Amino acid sequence: MISADKALHKLKEGNRRFVGVTSTRGVLETHLDHIRVVREQKPFAIILGCSDSRVPAELVFHCGLGELFVIRVAGNLVAPSQIGSIEYACQQFDTELVVVMGHSNCGAIRVTVDALLAEDRPVSPNLKSIVERIAPAVAPAVSNHSDASHDELIGIAVNANIQHSVRRLSEKSMILRNLVEAGRLKIVGAEYSLDTGEVVFLDD
Ligand SMILES: [Zn+2]
Repeated sequence: MISADKALHKLKEGNRRFVGVTSTRGVLETHLDHIRVVREQKPFAIILGCSDSRVPAELVFHCGLGELFVIRVAGNLVAPSQIGSIEYACQQFDTELVVVMGHSNCGAIRVTVDALLAEDRPVSPNLKSIVERIAPAVAPAVSNHSDASHDELIGIAVNANIQHSVRRLSEKSMILRNLVEAGRLKIVGAEYSLDTGEVVFLDD
């Protein structure tokens, strides 16, 4: 199995190719060049990303089938089923890297920030459960940046939510925490830009 550092390098290289390709020829065409149907999977990275239709992990990291284990949920939040999926992948495939990937202008973050500002929660209990999971991550950003513009606030909140999800994975999972402490797992945050297609890793 490849190390977390090598996996991180592969993702960065893949995103560089993606950004290059989008500015030259059709990304899907190029992506399909190297996709083969595979029966077995050996994901070198686990991605917890947002469901947003503009941020498919395999495409933005220019990866083929079987290379990434992807969990997508609005606002890349951490709830038991996301944690369970990641624990499964770590144990099953010995994958050493987890990336929590948020993105600019995230709708789930926007809805949560607006709910906090207006103290007006969504009506659907299901949507409300998403907002309530994201709210603790972004509430400090909202109260500490009262002078920021609305768009700036969303940007700050997106970043805060990514970092919150990274922390929560270790806090809420003994399995993941033990793997991190044993040096067998890295959990990192990243932000995808809808404007440029670039992924910025938060530790860089
Ligand atoms: Zn989103």
